[in-house]
Amino acid sequence: MIKIKKILIGTHNRGKIKEISYLLNKKIKKITPFDLNLKSPKETGKTFKTNSELKAKYFFRKAKIFTISDDSGLCVDCLNNSPGIYSARWAKKYGNFNNAGKKIIELVKNKNKNKKIKNYKAKFICSLTFYFGSKKKITTTGIIKGKISEKLLGKKGFGYDPIFIPRGNKVTFGQMAKRKKILMDHRYLAFKKLKHKVNTL
Ligand code: IMP
Repeated sequence: MIKIKKILIGTHNRGKIKEISYLLNKKIKKITPFDLNLKSPKETGKTFKTNSELKAKYFFRKAKIFTISDDSGLCVDCLNNSPGIYSARWAKKYGNFNNAGKKIIELVKNKNKNKKIKNYKAKFICSLTFYFGSKKKITTTGIIKGKISEKLLGKKGFGYDPIFIPRGNKVTFGQMAKRKKILMDHRYLAFKKLKHKVNTL
């Protein structure tokens, strides 16, 4: 059994920090890169898994404490699964997440123009890595399926939350109570698998 007294949540994304903190055992002291004045590494990987592992390894090496990192993003079916691992980079490219969200909606609407059967399908993917020693790591992946909304809806959450409606729901992640979203999303699904392997998390 791995004893965990403190953990570094290896991300600068405040939305992710909130969600991962909420999921971790209350007794574990949570530290962020902001506390240690650490920058994020370059995401040079081609998959969620490699980027997640690369981040966890980087932060573990810098801080020398157990680290949990994720790489996540939105994959839109009719856009060949874009923005995918480039989800954060699209927000930079278009100025912010609202603009990137609007751009995605516009692209999806264009793709579906004049089509009898509309395809608004999308999914959020999260790879989550627990890094607990040189070359000791566990990575799990969670996927939540859903669809892109017709417009930006809701001010809760972060990132692409206002444009994603999870399957079985009528509202976007951005309209949902925070707790409800945190306990159903891709990060939660990856965390559940990780917790199964490291039950002290
Ligand atoms: P990265 O993992 O740092 O490359 O960033 C992934 C990007 O995907 C984030 O900056 C978010 O914009 C987006 N993203 C990942 N998970 C979520 C989520 O749960 N809600 C909304 N956007 C998300």
